[in-house]
Amino acid sequence: MRCAILHYHELALKGRNRSFFEQRLVRNLRLALKDLGVRRVDALPGRIRAILPDTLPWEPVKTRLSHVFGVVNFSLAQSVPLDLIHPNLDALKIAVADEVQGLAFQTFRVTAKRADKRLTLTSMDVERELGAYLCAVTGKKVNLTKPDLTVYVELLSSEAYYSVKKEVGPGGMPTGVSGKVACLISGGIDSPVAAYRMMRRGCQAVFVHFHGRPFVSRASEEKVREIVELLTRYQLYSRLYLIPFGEIQRHIVLGAPAAYRVVLYRRMMLRIAEELARRDRCWALITGDSLGQVASQTPENLTVVQEAAHLPILRPLIGMDKIEITEQAQRIGTFETSIEPDQDCCRLFVPPHPSTRADLDQIRKIERGFDLDALVKQGLGKAELVEVTFPAQPVRPPFP
Ligand code: ATP
Ligand code: MG
Repeated sequence: MRCAILHYHELALKGRNRSFFEQRLVRNLRLALKDLGVRRVDALPGRIRAILPDTLPWEPVKTRLSHVFGVVNFSLAQSVPLDLIHPNLDALKIAVADEVQGLAFQTFRVTAKRADKRLTLTSMDVERELGAYLCAVTGKKVNLTKPDLTVYVELLSSEAYYSVKKEVGPGGMPTGVSGKVACLISGGIDSPVAAYRMMRRGCQAVFVHFHGRPFVSRASEEKVREIVELLTRYQLYSRLYLIPFGEIQRHIVLGAPAAYRVVLYRRMMLRIAEELARRDRCWALITGDSLGQVASQTPENLTVVQEAAHLPILRPLIGMDKIEITEQAQRIGTFETSIEPDQDCCRLFVPPHPSTRADLDQIRKIERGFDLDALVKQGLGKAELVEVTFPAQPVRPPFP
């Protein structure tokens, strides 16, 4: 039987969390593989198995699996039957020898794992016996420390799985186990990375973007859509709220000293995002702030901005520098899109010398001059919802 065997971090999981995590992962894998024609994904003791149709090439399966959070590593495997009480490795030996015949290698090792401890053969027994057999039939040598080829064997109660290559998964926790969060996404380099980091911890991300229309073209929106599409490969379904912010900014420009504009914009963004977050039952707001990077990210300004929201604001990049963030953006695949030139609303009406130390009392005093509720309502009223699915599925995956 041809299948993918997937592993997750077991150590991090205790008690009842484990089955919750496992069930979610199985469900997410089913959704990720469904349109490829994979019909069965099951939790086996300590690992997950997806049975692959013989006609399905490995490449697309591999690409999909490398985007499913919770998967630490995985491999294309074959199985042979095994008898728990009277285990006989003949079938395994012949199958593995056949498998490695066509491969180019000089040295190899066998790495076996026994999932069922009732099995009378230990992992070591299997490694020795299969290793000796492969030496004899292939003429190749064993090298335990730096082999050209590793044969992985996993022994379950009634079958053994073997594979010759392990692929790296994205790690983290399955989408959904940590609830939903609202990610403020700008089209810059940082916020997509911030969203990714929360997604990797099991959060389903809902995206909120403020654009400068009617004062700028659609450029930042197009970028954000593209970035959300890239990130959706990791969670299969995304909601993106697009909010025209130009009018609101114009209000702020007219009613506040130039130096405070940026902080006031951010506070308005948070109020609107928080309302959308509540509607979609998100438990936190996520931003791409990194300490000290720009004027809005000084300790004082972060504190003043934070005060406008009630939900927790999480800033997963707060302690990272630009180089680290850029490297992550490149790995995730959002960097190229993020650096395309655009007309972000943030560049609209930005003063030459924004205050780096906003004072909360003063900000509140200025805000008393605005009808904040009306501005929030105005933003929400014009919010446009875009739904993105990956792959473009006829039925959208469940959105809890
Ligand atoms: P980024 O690279 O994410 O744009 P940045 O270094 O440019 O970040 P700022 O422009 O100060 O920093 O933005 C800080 C955070 O505020 C962003 O990471 C994002 O979470 C949020 N934000 C900024 N502009 C917008 C916007 N137009 N729409 C939604 N969120 C925004
Ligand atoms: Mg920015």
